[in-house]
Amino acid sequence: MPHSMSDAPKIPVPTLTRLATYYTLLSDAQFEGVGHINSTQIESLSGIPATQVRKDLSHFGEIGKPGVGYEVLKLKSLIGAILKVDRPHRAVIVGAGRLGQALAHYPGLRQYGFVIVGAFDSDASKFGSVLGEVLVEDVASLPKRLKSLRAQVVILTVPSEAAQSAADLAVKGGARWILNFTPQHLRVSEGCFVRDVSFTQQFAVVAYLTED
Ligand code: NAD
Repeated sequence: MPHSMSDAPKIPVPTLTRLATYYTLLSDAQFEGVGHINSTQIESLSGIPATQVRKDLSHFGEIGKPGVGYEVLKLKSLIGAILKVDRPHRAVIVGAGRLGQALAHYPGLRQYGFVIVGAFDSDASKFGSVLGEVLVEDVASLPKRLKSLRAQVVILTVPSEAAQSAADLAVKGGARWILNFTPQHLRVSEGCFVRDVSFTQQFAVVAYLTED
C-alpha cells in the first residue's frame, strides 16, 4: 500500500502550514529588530485572520500579553521547536538539472533546517560537478550513500519517467521522506512518506483566473 502524509504528523497539515508562515514572519521581525508582535499585525502581514492566529498560538500557553503582543524571539523558538526546523535535516537532491540546481542554490532551505549533504544524477557527464556545496554523484550509489550521509530526506527533481525508479533507490537506502517535485505519483513501501510539491499548477490556476 502506498503511504501518504496522513500516516505521519500529529498536527494537521493546514495548521503546520500556518505555523510555517508565522515562523517565516517572526524570522523577518527578528531580523528587523522587532521585539513584540500582536495578532492584528500578524493578520496584516500574513492574511491569516487575527482570531485564527490567536487560536493557533493559544496552544503555546500564556505567551501573548494584552496590549503588548507576543514576544518575537520566544514565539519563534517555540514554533521552531514544534516544526523541528531548529535542528538540521540532512537532505539530498536527486536530479541535478534546472530545478535541482535552483533548490541547491536557494539559501532559504536552511531557514527550515534543511542542509543539502549530497546530490545525485544518472548523467555521467555531471558526476563530480558542483551543485551548491556538494559534488554530484552517480544515482546508482544512492542506496549506499544515503546511509553513509545519514540523510533521510530525498528531494526528487528528475524527469517524471525516471521518478519511480529513483524513488525505489531512495527507499532502498532508507529514505524516510521524499519531497516529490515530479508530476509522477509515487508508490513507496511502509516507513517512507511522500510529499508532492508543485508550484507549476498555480500557473494554470492564474491562467484560468486571468482569462476574460
Ligand atoms: P532537467 O531535465 O533540467 O533535470 C533533470 C535531471 O535529472 C537531469 O540532470 C537528468 O540527467 C537527471 N536524471 C534523469 N534521470 C535520472 C535518474 N534516473 N536518476 C537521477 N537523475 C536523473 O529537468 P527540470 O526542469 O529540472 O525538472 C525536473 C523535474 O521537476 C521534472 O519532473 C519537472 O516536471 C519537475 N518540475 C516540477 C515543478 C513543480 O512545481 N513541482 C517545477 C518545475 C519542474
